Amino acid sequence: MSTSDCLFCKIVSGEVPAKIVREGERTIAFRDINPQAPTHVLVIPREHYANAAELASADADLTAEVVREAHQVAVAEGIAESGYRLVFNTGPQAGQTVFHVHLHVLGGRGLNWPPG
Ligand code: 5GP
Repeated sequence: MSTSDCLFCKIVSGEVPAKIVREGERTIAFRDINPQAPTHVLVIPREHYANAAELASADADLTAEVVREAHQVAVAEGIAESGYRLVFNTGPQAGQTVFHVHLHVLGGRGLNWPPG
């Protein structure tokens, strides 16, 4: 399923360009347009789900694949050993702005906790 007005569905279809770093059968990973760290990549399922809860309820295997792909991004970026952060912003109050589930992979610098 895809939605015609979804930005990330348009990245999946190629209608909107993105710097793609990994492509799987069911996932793609691309650089965030407004990076918050030296590595800031978004991993998404090709299929449209609004958020992490929807994805996890619908397809546990695909949820796991998104997380595995995020780790492979970290390996490829050379940040797997030093450490990296995975974030699913879920809902407006958490700062979700694009309602096609995406896993942020952030690293390459020291990251503060708690987040803002
Ligand atoms: P959210 O705030 O929903 O968790 O994250 C959405 C992310 O998508 C933001 O970090 C934002 O910079 C990124 N983003 C928004 N529009 C685009 C775009 O057109 N291309 C890419 N590559 N990233 C985008």
